[in-house]
Amino acid sequence: MELREHVPLAPYTTFGLGGKARYFVECGSEDEVRAALAYAAERRLPAYVLGGGSNVVFLDSGFPGLILRLTIGGIELRDGPSPEVRAGAGVDWDTLVQNVVPRGWTGVECLSGIPGTVGGTPIQNVGAYGQEIAESLVSVECLECAFGYRDSRFKRADRGRYVVLEVTLRLARDQKPRIRYPELQRAVAGLGGLDTVTPTEAVGLVRQAVLALRRSKSMVLDPADPNTRSAGSFFTNPVLSAAAFADLAQRWKEIPSFPADGGVKVPAAWLVEHAGFPKGYRSGAGAGISTRHALALVNRGGTSADLLALAEEVRAGVEKQFGIRLAYEPEVVRSET
Ligand SMILES: Cc1cc2nc3c(=O)[nH]c(=O)nc-3n(C[C@H](O)[C@H](O)[C@H](O)COP(=O)(O)OP(=O)(O)OC[C@H]3O[C@@H](n4cnc5c(N)ncnc54)[C@H](O)[C@@H]3O)c2cc1C
Repeated sequence: MELREHVPLAPYTTFGLGGKARYFVECGSEDEVRAALAYAAERRLPAYVLGGGSNVVFLDSGFPGLILRLTIGGIELRDGPSPEVRAGAGVDWDTLVQNVVPRGWTGVECLSGIPGTVGGTPIQNVGAYGQEIAESLVSVECLECAFGYRDSRFKRADRGRYVVLEVTLRLARDQKPRIRYPELQRAVAGLGGLDTVTPTEAVGLVRQAVLALRRSKSMVLDPADPNTRSAGSFFTNPVLSAAAFADLAQRWKEIPSFPADGGVKVPAAWLVEHAGFPKGYRSGAGAGISTRHALALVNRGGTSADLLALAEEVRAGVEKQFGIRLAYEPEVVRSET
């Protein structure tokens, strides 16, 4: 186990923000994860599992414990009527998608271009363009973090209690992808549509359309595009009760909405923009809203404090205007030591 000390965390996140980790270790195998967890437990250090760092905000004060960065590799493809793909938690997610799409295996093509690791995908059930990982997930191999320290985050809730080591997905073959999302349907039609192509070509075409759409919104990582110093969407779309939505729609007739489990989903982007925070909004110099996506908060060369101040400003503005408190999508990593 190669333990490093006082390691700057910013380069390990897509925001490019955060102070130093007191201890930092890259774990390329289950044994290394076990050894790292044992090291933290013996010293009563808080431990935090990091994948690609595309959905986390580390504070400027850093992290006082041990960061385990998962680098477990390996992709195994099992062909068959329902092909399966098994991948190590540290595999780059889009590399997995790139591996299955040319084979015509369908099920994850709409998730093309999402940053981060395979191990990070089940944590928040990543989704895009009407597809989500839960639909193809067969199994997740985990290690339970049974060790404890005072007031451990691992004890209080399932969140952070398991380390994902490996993920297995079941996909489909010899069938054209179903496209549920109107914006993607239009983009695919713009590329010639799926009617005259083979199923394998269709899967590739959908990936191409998704990547083009994502690029137009700065939703694929690109070092040349400053809008991608983000975590993608910073706020989740709120789901309101039917009564709460009816009340809102009386005051805001043009508010878009979608049916959702147990209520009505309202686009957080619409709320943000209509609360006075347009694309490109800047508060102070350090952080702003992406010029291409109203939900993406972007590091403009500032600090985590700048970013979190902006997040709170937007949240308070939306709450004042609509009475809805938005939830953060990325995890703000605070330590309870
Ligand atoms: C430009 C951009 C666009 C994005 N677009 C989308 C999108 O379209 N849809 C979407 O759903 N998300 C999107 N995201 C968010 C992000 O890419 C996903 O949530 C991704 O799955 C996070 O994976 P990660 O490996 O980077 O996780 P990290 O950011 O490293 O960690 C995120 C959380 O997962 C936990 N975690 C990570 N790996 C493991 C593991 N092996 N075991 C246990 N816990 C683990 C961490 O502790 C943390 O709580 C976007 C982000 C960016 C920057």
